Amino acid sequence: MRGAVRSVARADLPEVDAFTRPYWAAAGEGRLLLRRCRAEGCGRAHHYPREFCPYCWSEDVDWEPAAGRGTLYTWSVVHRNDLPPFGERVPYVAAVVDLAEGPRMMTEIIGCSEAELRIGMPVVVDFRRAAAASTSRAADGDADGPGFAVPVFRPAGNGPVFRPAGNSVAG
Ligand SMILES: [Zn+2]
Repeated sequence: MRGAVRSVARADLPEVDAFTRPYWAAAGEGRLLLRRCRAEGCGRAHHYPREFCPYCWSEDVDWEPAAGRGTLYTWSVVHRNDLPPFGERVPYVAAVVDLAEGPRMMTEIIGCSEAELRIGMPVVVDFRRAAAASTSRAADGDADGPGFAVPVFRPAGNGPVFRPAGNSVAG
């Protein structure tokens, strides 16, 4: 029933609510935010964003800008995905990245062939823009506006973004 998916809402657009609005607003400006616990003796960052710290359950948690750097932990090349619009993008690289601040993040690797991928490779954040589409996601108005930017990652040094200087990464 591949034809039936045409009427389904796009699966790549986030559900934005009052809690996650700062995250998506920052992404729209090209900045990746993390949540960091302010509780004494904890102080850990986490991702995806939660209203409480997943390590100590404190609710004393704030947004902070991430460096946008990390290393590739693992990946999987997706050859088939029937959720629109992913079917038009296959193959793509679904990945888990270890952020410099510690949290592990589900994301996508762009700008890199499958053969070039390796565990531990340095990556930097980039943002994929997606027009705010359709109505079905915008019932409360949150999805209106200039559109979303979804954080993805690309190899560090591949492009005009951050490149570590004189820094050889073992492994
Ligand atoms: Zn904590």
